[in-house]
Amino acid sequence: MHNFEYRQGEFYCEQVPVSRIAKEVGTPCYVYSHATLIRHFHAYDGAFKNIPHIVAFAMKANSNLAVLRVMAKEGSGVDIVSGGELFRALKAGVPPSKIVFAGVGKDAGEIADALKADILMFNVESSAEIRAINDVAASVGKKARIALRINPDVDPKTHPYISTGMKKSKFGIAADRALEEYKMAASLSHIEVVGVHAHIGSQLTEVTPFVDSLKKVVGLIGTLKAQGINIQYLNIGGGLGITYSEEKPPLPQDLSDAISPIVAHLGLTLVMEPGRVIVGNAGILVTKALYLKEGEAKNFVIVDAAMNDLLRPSLYGAYHEIKPVNEEAGHRAKQQVDIVGPVCESGDFLAKDRLLAAVKPGELMAVMSAGAYGFVMASNYNSRPRIPEVLVQGEDIHVIRERETYEDLVKGEMIPAFLK
Ligand SMILES: *Cc1c(COP(=O)(O)O)cnc(C)c1O
Repeated sequence: MHNFEYRQGEFYCEQVPVSRIAKEVGTPCYVYSHATLIRHFHAYDGAFKNIPHIVAFAMKANSNLAVLRVMAKEGSGVDIVSGGELFRALKAGVPPSKIVFAGVGKDAGEIADALKADILMFNVESSAEIRAINDVAASVGKKARIALRINPDVDPKTHPYISTGMKKSKFGIAADRALEEYKMAASLSHIEVVGVHAHIGSQLTEVTPFVDSLKKVVGLIGTLKAQGINIQYLNIGGGLGITYSEEKPPLPQDLSDAISPIVAHLGLTLVMEPGRVIVGNAGILVTKALYLKEGEAKNFVIVDAAMNDLLRPSLYGAYHEIKPVNEEAGHRAKQQVDIVGPVCESGDFLAKDRLLAAVKPGELMAVMSAGAYGFVMASNYNSRPRIPEVLVQGEDIHVIRERETYEDLVKGEMIPAFLK
């Protein structure tokens, strides 16, 4: 459920016509709904109300400070994957006691910063990293709480680029080597083993892979207990899918119903790291049609947003629904078109071979489900300033990131003296 809909022929975000936002901040721009964000957070958090748990929003999906503040105010923690994300989390006011740190390549500086901030725990991805964390913890005089990220070798049945829990993946520690690594970790002086973590992929549309993965992890927790290693936190990762097109992903409650029988009796605190399911359908990308172009074999609608603004179609062949902001325009005869941006790459498209009601130059379109992995993947390719982000709350429009200027594009660049 989200708060983007037609009213009297116009597309709205909450109480605000999208056309008004376009007029005030220009296009392209990202628009997020505050009501949708909090609704999604509570749907997820509430589904697990019967089990002690911490929801740690996976901020790589959307790391705008205002979005993080919304999450923190609702009681969310965050899952971070870099020192930059730690910086953002602290700046947004997320309590360190609800921050977990994942990623295969944390460097010593990032580890030290996280220890100094006293985050809840590191999700550790290799035996080399366990030793590195121990060394850094010793040098800053702290004990690091860790969970080992287990690779349960389960097929999440999603896009290969976002599958993370199969044998060939760079993520996690193989389940059959886990005991050995746990023993090693437990023997180190500056490590406190507190958890087990598994995250098998993103945009999962079935609960079965979650269940299969958890069964393996719960088996491991029993084995560890028998060896005197007591686990307090079970981190189930993120990965719940959303509807982009026709998908019917399980609801958070379905996930909770499926896994609660496996985990509830263990007396552990669950940690979960949803990203996409919280923000994906809470955001849209608003773009304007610039030109229509009839090609030899195809017709194109050229719009002012491009792959540098929303990379998912180019990167994963991802589908995003595209709606006219003026509802009437949606009733025109349909044509098969590619919706493409101004970037000088044939891979620059927002939609391919899409049957769409005829669009006219100057008209606005909403690219749906763009709140997750949208702005965060934006770049300045082709020297295009990054676009603004807007948070709508009720009748109010809040710019939460300004459009970049041309001066921003060259910030930090220097022409050395010998060229002057
Ligand atoms: C990306 C990621 C998530 C979030 O995935 P979603 O599909 O957006 O829910 C959670 N945990 C880890 C470790 C991740 O890398």
